[in-house]
Amino acid sequence: MTGVYDTEEIRLLRNSVREFGEKYLAPVAKKIDEENRVPDDVIKAVADMGYFALRVPEEYGGPGLSTLESAIVVEELARYSSAVSIMATVSGTMVAYPLVHYGSQELQEKYLTRLAQGEIGAFALTEPCCGTDAAAITTTAKLEGDEWIINGRKVFITNSPYASFFLVAARTGKVEDRHRGISLFVVDKSDCMEISKLEMMGYRGSGTSEVVFENCRVPKENIVGEVNKGFKIVMDALNEGRIITASTGLGIMQAAFDEALQYSKQRESMGKPLIEHQMIQSMIAQMKLLLEATRQLIYTAAVKVDNNEPDYPMWSSMAKLAAASWGVDLVRMAMQVMGGIGYSKESPIERYYRDIKMIEIGDGSNEVQKMVIVKALLGKVRPPRQ
Ligand SMILES: Cc1cc2nc3c(=O)[nH]c(=O)nc-3n(C[C@H](O)[C@H](O)[C@H](O)COP(=O)(O)OP(=O)(O)OC[C@H]3O[C@@H](n4cnc5c(N)ncnc54)[C@H](O)[C@@H]3O)c2cc1C
Repeated sequence: MTGVYDTEEIRLLRNSVREFGEKYLAPVAKKIDEENRVPDDVIKAVADMGYFALRVPEEYGGPGLSTLESAIVVEELARYSSAVSIMATVSGTMVAYPLVHYGSQELQEKYLTRLAQGEIGAFALTEPCCGTDAAAITTTAKLEGDEWIINGRKVFITNSPYASFFLVAARTGKVEDRHRGISLFVVDKSDCMEISKLEMMGYRGSGTSEVVFENCRVPKENIVGEVNKGFKIVMDALNEGRIITASTGLGIMQAAFDEALQYSKQRESMGKPLIEHQMIQSMIAQMKLLLEATRQLIYTAAVKVDNNEPDYPMWSSMAKLAAASWGVDLVRMAMQVMGGIGYSKESPIERYYRDIKMIEIGDGSNEVQKMVIVKALLGKVRPPRQ
């Protein structure tokens, strides 16, 4: 039911992830949420499938998936576990994509190969001072001889406990330089970092953490792109990352819809199944509309990135905004259809409800997506990869 995107290749890919999800994720999704941790054997299984390396080209041993294919994989993973789907999103796209498009040959050989071998990457931009206003970050990188010395505090960093290296945005210019004074570095995990896992409302298990960098020494050549030009790379990583984050939302939307539809056929009220009551039908029809509209926006945006069409940032923001605000609407309706059972821990809907809310905040809030859309309409968003 995916229209022009429903090719044989995509169907095979989708089915393979679904089989994986049934076998490895469905049995432990609730436990991952409760314990705020993904078990080691599941991490290994995900790594073996190459899901932490989605965008890594085949020449480095990765699956070499396109943005559209990565979106499909993440969508299917999210139907089972949003924690695993966001882990794959961050490592497989937000870390891999900037290295693929902006990393030196040496960085690509070293770190893309490591992702392909099953290691996990993290993307460290947000700080206690500033999330939306990312151009104001204060973490510093100072060049001393042949090394960059990194100091600062990042927060809400997905994958941190599992990651073996981090992409870190740090200030190499003055604070007043804002986005013109930021560079991007690959930093191997080491004792110079203190990682404190946070208790979050949703996406539990994905390792959201505070990370403090204290005099972390990084080889000079671990800079991604040029000095003071890192912000543009970060923004482009977000352009793609937003589509894949939207896909985690889409997977949650699909799972919530399936659950509510099924329930509405079984549960009876006033002598007939819920689905035969007009007000329930109205919600089911609305949910289906939001689900498929979101899907089409995400796939369209993904193809635009793959074709390097200049308007992909705007489409990426529209896809993310749809999955976020329509996703929250859809899961709220799914819970409404299911009544008390939907609100209880007996049903996965309450977990979906906690998880989907994150899409309105992470990777740029709804407000940020609206800003990007309007900036693009005003001709103020430059094509990133030209
Ligand atoms: C589960 C989770 C995982 C995350 N993973 C990562 C990660 O891996 N790496 C990473 O770097 N970050 C990560 N983040 C951080 C996330 O990207 C930020 O939380 C997000 O960008 C919002 O920043 P903030 O929390 O500082 O909110 P703020 O920037 O303080 O914003 C607060 C509110 O004000 C609004 N607002 C702010 N400025 C404006 C403005 N100019 N105009 C209108 N409204 C405005 C925002 O939309 C928001 O509603 C994660 C967050 C969560 C919740």
